[in-house]
Amino acid sequence: MAKASTITIDGTAAAGKSTVAALLSKVLGYLYLDTGVMYRAVTWAVLNQQIAVSDEAAVSELAEKLTIEVTSPWQTDGRYYTVLADGRDITWKIRSQEVEAHVSRVSSYRRVRTALTAQQRRIAAAGSIIMVGRDIGTVVLPEADLKIFMCASAEERARRRYKELLAQGKSANYEQIFTAIQQRDKKDRENPVSPLVPAADAVMVDTDKLTIEEVVARLIELSG
Ligand code: C5P
Repeated sequence: MAKASTITIDGTAAAGKSTVAALLSKVLGYLYLDTGVMYRAVTWAVLNQQIAVSDEAAVSELAEKLTIEVTSPWQTDGRYYTVLADGRDITWKIRSQEVEAHVSRVSSYRRVRTALTAQQRRIAAAGSIIMVGRDIGTVVLPEADLKIFMCASAEERARRRYKELLAQGKSANYEQIFTAIQQRDKKDRENPVSPLVPAADAVMVDTDKLTIEEVVARLIELSG
């Protein structure tokens, strides 16, 4: 079997996709693009410019104009990459609860998805890439060599997020995190343009009972 050059990893929020993809990209020497970052960047810019999230035309226009760059990390503050929106470093800003509360709505707009999908395909054209998101195997790169769909129960994902926040010295409320994850799942599943579904030929990886290292080992095996 030839080595997979284009690898897609889709799945539910907080299933561990980003952590696994970052490790896998180091092992394989591939570029890693987390497309959630791009939807978050648009959402941040919408809020920052005080555009109403419900104003689909204005949000779409902004998505079509905004220059989003995802580069290797410049700082050693725990980031896997640096995210720039029109040249401004927003790497941590896109992780705010406010962005998280609105990103599914912004991602449901057709023109927003078309604009970001085009950018994602351009980035993937050179190959040797691991692209992470919700619709990469189904819509963005349906011809990818290897498609993974990662899932885990909402309870397990909420537990991981909770521990992660505590480890960062932040306050956290398990029930709130659990409810937010369930709400985001529902919105992602019901996204009218790109609902969250595995590609017919995706390999399903349930991470509930697997460590990160075990998942990475399985993906290395699958990548050939
Ligand atoms: O993966 P992450 O949690 O950073 O993604 C943030 C949000 O961006 C998701 O909840 C989803 O609404 C949206 N998204 C998307 N399509 C992608 C990646 C992310 O709609 N390919």
